[in-house]
This record gives sequence, C-alpha cells and structure tokens, in this order.
Amino acid sequence: MKTVAVLGGGPAGSSAAERLARAGLRTIIIDEKLAWEKPCGGGITYKAYSQYPYLIENETPKKLVTSTVIAAPKAGRVCMELNQPLVIYSRKDLNAMLLRRAEEAGAEIETIVIVTIEVPVVAVEMATVATAPEILTRYFVTSSLIAAISR
Ligand SMILES: Cc1cc2nc3c(=O)[nH]c(=O)nc-3n(C[C@H](O)[C@H](O)[C@H](O)COP(=O)(O)OP(=O)(O)OC[C@H]3O[C@@H](n4cnc5c(N)ncnc54)[C@H](O)[C@@H]3O)c2cc1C
Repeated sequence: MKTVAVLGGGPAGSSAAERLARAGLRTIIIDEKLAWEKPCGGGITYKAYSQYPYLIENETPKKLVTSTVIAAPKAGRVCMELNQPLVIYSRKDLNAMLLRRAEEAGAEIETIVIVTIEVPVVAVEMATVATAPEILTRYFVTSSLIAAISR
C-alpha cells in the first residue's frame, strides 16, 4: 500500500488526508500543534459549506451570522441581511472536527515538528524531533504554512 505524509493538519491537510485515506492509501498527518486556536476569523462562507455540507452539518459548536452592519462616523450605519448565513467556528473546534473526520477515515496522526524535508529520487525523508519515529515515504502533501519549515 502507498504511504502519503500530509504535512500540516489544518483544514487543507486534514481534508486532503480524509480523501487520501478514504481512497485506501496509508495516510499520515504530521502537525506540530494539531487543533489549535490559530489567529483566524473562523468564518466559512455559503460557497464553501454548500459544496462541503459537513462544514455546517455537524455537532461542532458554531455561530450563524445572518446580518452585517457597516457604519461610518458621519454617514451613519446600514444593516444588511445576508442571503445565506456565514458560519463562524473557533479554529480549534473546526480543526479538531476535520482531524477527527480524517482519523475516522483511517488517517494516522503524528504530533511532531518537521524540521527539514529532503526529496531524493526514491523516497521522501523527514527529520522530526529526536524522540519521534523516523518517517520515510514516497509521497507527501503539504499545506500553506509548512513553509515555516525553513526556520
Ligand atoms: C487573522 C486571520 C483571519 C482569518 N480569517 C479567516 C476566515 O474567517 N475564514 C477563512 O476561510 N479563512 C480565514 N483566514 C485564512 C485561514 O486561516 C487560512 O486560509 C487557513 O488556515 C489555511 O489552511 P491550511 O490548512 O492551508 O493551513 P493552516 O491552517 O495554517 O495549517 C497548517 C498547519 O501546519 C502546521 N505546521 C506548520 N509548520 C509545521 C512544521 N514545521 N512541522 C509540523 N507542523 C507544522 C501548523 O501547526 C498548522 O496546523 C484567516 C487568516 C488570518 C491570519
């Protein structure tokens, strides 16, 4: 069976991992923090949750925003009703929900920091912290902030 390392367990990584695991690949999510309260509005638009209904149809705590106010000191304020609500999550809760879905699909999760990535011809080798298991894989997927790896 092919093994894929998914670097980063944010929304991108956990969603990719869920699909990879459901497709029957051995999938390992690697993230230094996993579910955490990342500085983020946590807002999910109708466009997103209508395409991926599990983003709204779940038990995770959320708030629905149905109107918005624009105000200016001299011009006054205007209130607009949204055609479709905006869903707001705590990022910790959202990440945890998406990671749980990936895990339920069969993905494995490792809470470790990746410090380097070498891409030789035959396999991808990742250095992690000394106490963590060595991970060797031919395939990996990465998400946006893994660029922080060069630190
Ligand atoms: C202030 C702010 C407000 C925002 N508000 C919204 C909003 O309301 N709605 C919206 O849709 N988007 C919003 N965004 C954007 C949103 O946060 C990102 O688009 C989204 O988090 C990207 O998801 P991702 O899975 O690609 O990356 P991330 O969520 O950043 O996940 C990357 C993961 O990689 C892990 N990681 C990084 N480096 C390493 C390493 N070396 N080793 C191991 N793990 C590592 C991190 O711990 C993290 O969990 C906002 C962003 C900011 C900054």
